[in-house]
Amino acid sequence: MLSPLGLSPSFGFGDRLGLATPGHIAAVKGTGLAPIFAQQSVRENARTGRTPQQVIDDAKRAVESAHWEAPWGADADHLKTVDDLPPFIEAGYTFFTIDPSAYVDNAADTDPLAVLQEKVRGSDLDQLSDLYLHPAGERVWGGFDTHKLLQAEVKYGGAIRHTVGMYHHLSESMESFDFEISVDETDAPTTSLEHYFIASELTRQGVKFTSLAPRFIGRFEKGVDYIGDLVALDAEMAKHAAVTFHFGTYKLSLHSGSDKFSIYPLIVKNWGSRLHVKTAGTSYLEALRTLAVTSPELFEQIWSLGLESYEADRATYHVSAEAALVPTDQALPALLDDFHARQILHVTFGSALTHYGQEIRAELVRHADAYNANLQKHFCSHLDLLK
Ligand SMILES: [Zn+2]
Repeated sequence: MLSPLGLSPSFGFGDRLGLATPGHIAAVKGTGLAPIFAQQSVRENARTGRTPQQVIDDAKRAVESAHWEAPWGADADHLKTVDDLPPFIEAGYTFFTIDPSAYVDNAADTDPLAVLQEKVRGSDLDQLSDLYLHPAGERVWGGFDTHKLLQAEVKYGGAIRHTVGMYHHLSESMESFDFEISVDETDAPTTSLEHYFIASELTRQGVKFTSLAPRFIGRFEKGVDYIGDLVALDAEMAKHAAVTFHFGTYKLSLHSGSDKFSIYPLIVKNWGSRLHVKTAGTSYLEALRTLAVTSPELFEQIWSLGLESYEADRATYHVSAEAALVPTDQALPALLDDFHARQILHVTFGSALTHYGQEIRAELVRHADAYNANLQKHFCSHLDLLK
C-alpha cells in the first residue's frame, strides 16, 4: 500500500532504470525497515528522461507482482521550486523532499557583524531574541549569542521561509504526506546548533516534517564509503541525534547513503530507529555489474563513454575520482569495485542512458535473475548493518 511512512525507520531505493524494485523487495523483506521504492530527484528525471509518473508506475508494477503488502513510499526528491511540485502530486507521491539550498546564504559564516545586521533587517529580531537567547540554556548542541543568532537567521532564514511556502503549497492539495527538509547539498556542514534553529523555526511556523537531512562533516561522495574522521563524525551524529530527540517529532535522514558501510554502525548507535537513508546510483552500478558479465561489449561502450563525459557530468555531484587513477589492467566485473571507476560510472548515467538506454534495459530484462541477485546481495550488505 502506497502511503506516508511517518516515523518508522525507513530506507530509500532510488531506481534510475525502473527495473530494480524486484531486487530491492528481495533485500528489504523481513528487515523491519519501511521502504521507499520510487525515489527520483528532479535532476535525475531530467537525465534519465523519465517522468515522475513513469517512475512510480515502474515501482507499482513490481510491488504488485511481488505481492508486497506492507506500506511503501514514493519520494519526490530534491524539489527546489513550487513549479517542481505538480507532476509529483498528480502521480501520487507520498514523500516530498524540499531542497532550499538556493536560499541558504553561506556568506553568513564570515560576514562582519555590520553586514549581518544589514542583511537581517526585515526579520523579527525581538521575537528571535526572546526565543533563542537564554544564557542559562546551554545544551549539548550549544547555545546562541547575538552574533550566532544573527548568523543563523541570515544563513537559513530565507531557506526556512521557502520551505514553509512549499509546505503550505503541498498542504493545500494533499491531506497527509511525509515532508523532508534537506540541506545536505549546501556548501558547509550543518552544525547541530543550526540544525536546532532550523527544526525549531519550522516547528514554530507550523510545518509538520517527518525528516531532516543535515549536511554532515567529512565527505559523502557518490558510490563509495565515507571519507573523513569517524571519531569526529560519531560525536557530531550524537549531537544531531540530541536535537532530534529534543523535538521527538521527526527522523534524521542520510543522503548519498549507499556504500557508507563504515558509518552505519554509528547511525544505529546514535539515532536508534529515528532514521531514513537514501540511496540511488548504487542500484545503477549493480546494473552495470550485471552487464559487465552478461554483455561485456555493451559495458565497454558505457565505460568509454563514461570516461569521455566524466569531466562535464561530474559538475553537479560530490565526487573526487580521477580518470587517470583507474587501474588499466582491471578485469570485469572487479572494475565495479574500484573507487574511481565507481564514481565515474555513477555520475555519467545520464550520458549512458541517452546513448544506450534501450540496450541496457533490454539486457537487464533478459538477465533479470542475475540483476536481482546482484541487487539483493549489495543491499543486504547495507541493511544487515541497520538491523
Ligand atoms: Zn541529497
